[in-house]
This record gives sequence, C-alpha cells and structure tokens, in this order.
Amino acid sequence: MPQQQNKINYQKELEKVLDKEKERVPTLLLHSCCAPCSSYVLEYLAQYFSITVFYYNPNIYPEAEYEKRVEEQQRLIREMNAKNQLALCTDDRQEKKASGQNIKEYHEIRFLAGRFDPQEFYHAVKGLEKIPEGGERCHACFRLRLAEAAKIAKEGNYDYVTTTLTISPLKNAEALNVIGREAADACGVAWLPSDFKKKNGYRRSVELSAEYGLYRQDYCGCVFSKQEREASK
Ligand code: SF4
Repeated sequence: MPQQQNKINYQKELEKVLDKEKERVPTLLLHSCCAPCSSYVLEYLAQYFSITVFYYNPNIYPEAEYEKRVEEQQRLIREMNAKNQLALCTDDRQEKKASGQNIKEYHEIRFLAGRFDPQEFYHAVKGLEKIPEGGERCHACFRLRLAEAAKIAKEGNYDYVTTTLTISPLKNAEALNVIGREAADACGVAWLPSDFKKKNGYRRSVELSAEYGLYRQDYCGCVFSKQEREASK
C-alpha cells in the first residue's frame, strides 16, 4: 500500500497544471479502463490536451468482455470526434470568441491499443487473489497498468500521462496518484494528477454514457471482482 500523505486535493493539483499550460496544447497519454469512465474525462480534458487514449487492461475477464469494452472505447472516441468536428463546422465560433464568449475548442482524440495478455495480470496479483476489491490486489493491478502507460508515454515522447481510474467512487484517488506518480517518475515522464470524480465528474460520466448509449459493466474487470459481484447479488 502506498504511504499515506497529507490529504491532497488532486482536482486542484490538476487545475494548477491546466493553468500553467494554458498557452499551449500539451500531449497526454490517457490510460483508460473503459468507455463510460473515459467519457467525462475526454469531454473535460480534450479542451486542454491533445489526447491519445491508451487501452491497456490485461485484468479484464473474460476475453469477450475485453473485446466488448475495447470496441465501446473506440466507438466513443469516433463519436466524440465526429460530434466535435460537427460543432466546429456548424458553430460560428470565431465570431462568438471575438465577442468575448467562452467557447470551448476540442482537440482530436486518438486511440492506442495495448497488449492483452491476462497472464501479465495474474502474475502481478499472485498471492493477492482473495483480497477484497479496493485492497492490495487493486494496488498491484494499478501498478501494472500505470507502469505500462508511463513506459509507453516516455517512448512516445508525451508531455503527460494519467488514468481515467480516479473517476470511480470505488477507487482510491490517493493510491492511484501515488502509484501513478511513482511509475511516471521511474520513466521520466510527467504525471498529471487527477480526481475526476470531483466537480460531479462521475455523475457527468453517467449522463454521457446514456447520451452515447454506452455499455456499462457491473463489475470492475477481473475474474475476482466478477465473482465478488455475483456473490453479492
Ligand atoms: S477489482 Fe478492478 S482494480 Fe481491483 S484487481 Fe480487479 S480489475 Fe484490478
């Protein structure tokens, strides 16, 4: 478990970065767990960053579920890009901007698939299988996925790396930010702090999921979380 620090407001930390970067459009490698969680994050951050969604989730069980989630992720990106492109064509944005109105500009979102080798996940959580969701098994799962995201961000020369995972009310934003920053530091890339559930982010993701008709799974992803969910039904 990562060391506890004084309580940090990671949404405020993110806003400090947005303020610091307001004169340019940095690149961001955004690790995503699924389309619903990414929906609000993309709507929010595509105004500020040139985003590549990185889908690396070898934890997902079974393979058919993985295929379903990755296809939904790709569909969401296509539809968000098309919607933003349409808005660009139909809005009289330049006129509105010139008249001082606050007009949002969205940058095109790209997609990058990671490997899908479930053995990487089972190896990472070996001995932790029976620990309930939210515990050390999940921290090992975060470490695996964020280490890979940081490595790919470094190789691709991205300005920042982060994850959509902090949007979930079931996930510990403190643990995610500590683990993510350690992984980013180890690779020499900047970690973008976040707590996307703040500012009604989770609620907005539910609205966007309905708007885009997204498939919303009822378990986190791994076989153990699936078993826990089935046992609680
Ligand atoms: S419950 Fe979710 S975060 Fe935890 S180990 Fe399973 S897939 Fe990973």
